[in-house]
Amino acid sequence: MDRTRYDAFVRTFFDCDPREITQIFEELLAAMQAEESLPPGHYLSQNYETAQANPEIHVLPGNLKDARDAVFPYFWGTDGWSSPLHLENVRGPANYASLIGAIACLLKNPNLCTDSYSQRSNELEVKAITALANLVFYHTDDPWGVFTIGGTISNMYAAKIGVEKVLPGAMRKGLRGETVAGIVSGAAHYCGATIAGWLGLGTENLHEIPVDRSLSMRLDLLAAKLDELYQKGVKVAFVIGTFGTTDAFGVDDLVGIHAIIHEKAAKYGVTVPQLHADAAVGWGICFLNEYDREKNVLKLTPEMTPIVAKVQEMCKGLRVADSVTIDFHKTGRGHYPSSAFIVNRRADLRFLARSKDDTPYFPEADSRRDPALFTLETSRPGLGPYTVMASLDGIGLLGWQMLMARSLELADILKHKLEKLDYCKVLNPDTCGASVVWWVLPKGRDARAIFEKFEAGALSPEESQRYLGEVRRLFTKRERTLDPARDARLSFTTAIGYRPHGVDVPAWKAVFFNPKTDEAIIDRLIESIEEVA
Ligand SMILES: *Cc1c(COP(=O)(O)O)cnc(C)c1O
Repeated sequence: MDRTRYDAFVRTFFDCDPREITQIFEELLAAMQAEESLPPGHYLSQNYETAQANPEIHVLPGNLKDARDAVFPYFWGTDGWSSPLHLENVRGPANYASLIGAIACLLKNPNLCTDSYSQRSNELEVKAITALANLVFYHTDDPWGVFTIGGTISNMYAAKIGVEKVLPGAMRKGLRGETVAGIVSGAAHYCGATIAGWLGLGTENLHEIPVDRSLSMRLDLLAAKLDELYQKGVKVAFVIGTFGTTDAFGVDDLVGIHAIIHEKAAKYGVTVPQLHADAAVGWGICFLNEYDREKNVLKLTPEMTPIVAKVQEMCKGLRVADSVTIDFHKTGRGHYPSSAFIVNRRADLRFLARSKDDTPYFPEADSRRDPALFTLETSRPGLGPYTVMASLDGIGLLGWQMLMARSLELADILKHKLEKLDYCKVLNPDTCGASVVWWVLPKGRDARAIFEKFEAGALSPEESQRYLGEVRRLFTKRERTLDPARDARLSFTTAIGYRPHGVDVPAWKAVFFNPKTDEAIIDRLIESIEEVA
């Protein structure tokens, strides 16, 4: 080996040169700031063709600027969602406290598999998990948990605990021909099916309980489904209650579900299923738990008082859940991936535990603490704990309350403005979240009357299809004619989850996740609806 050449190369890529690195960082920041002055969207069109056809890499060692150049077009071609006109989905711009946490994490690059590979970063994970647990479960005694790569995986941890509860030893012996089922609501995230498929239950053994018009699981139908399954000898491993559905922010009645699953399990003499709260989106409203409505230090408007009161009531439901999913990369405006899976009682993690024989790389692992002995992942990024603690402490409780209350306020304002238009119908008037789903019909139609008939089953299938087609057509018309510099980006959902008489309800959708979105953007949105209807 030519050592001179080797040493020069190692210096370039393994010695930290703060000047070189900060220069490149400043260049990236400058590009990002330039981008922020542009309307939202695609700054460079995609070029998938050569992404596949041209995978060659440089031959000679380069430098950090080559690294920059290798990714720059893709960086420039990606929207960071900083524009306040982005209202499409549960995605917001990442907050900069999170960025500081993320940078700190990337500089050390801990692996959260065990203490040996992460030292104090594992301690930070325990702290971040406990802070989140206290927020959602109210100072619970014995919470524990881990950060995973997403809400899907966090929910999968809960489902797996449920499988082990109702079919002990499944980790070793598999399902042994038993039918094992899971239950979610009809408005739940589609990841329930992913999980049932991947855990070997089979997607056909995931049962969806229809929701009522407030997008909440129908408890009468849950009870009936449990009777049906238990009478057939099916083992019900988990019930996932959604705390804030992705489209419309429906919240399942966790206290009611808890009562029913206990009652039915006792009646049939079986193990109670894992009750998991999928609060991937909804958890953030827990910041308002202890907001003093009388003192009202944030000077919230009177319209907000009943909303905050309702939020505080709903959050109490989380206390009865066995476990919860929190996506900090959604409502926390944090960086991906930072999803937390938290059990209310630490002892429940024993259902996931593997022995040291099963994890030969970690003979030093300590079963009281080292996550690798129970996690699905082996190597695990530290981004979750770093971005979460930096964001929680940087922004502070009052800051979080401002962020959450503002989202709720903007959603409420839009709902009220839409209600004033006869040809519009808000489909989630009673939910307390950041999202609004609604119909726009052509001017002259009475949207409320049409919806009532639709709900009552009084429309013929042709009539239904005509009206639902109009909702879609007007959305497309707005998309075609919108001014990217002024008009908010919305999304269209083909099914909000509520299905009167088995018919999916499509809707226009706006989600207030961007802290800079304001009333003027809503006014312009209403104007644009008046223009296309
Ligand atoms: C987004 C979402 C998920 C999936 O989370 P990922 O982090 O995208 O994997 C699960 N449940 C709900 C309610 C969600 O909104």
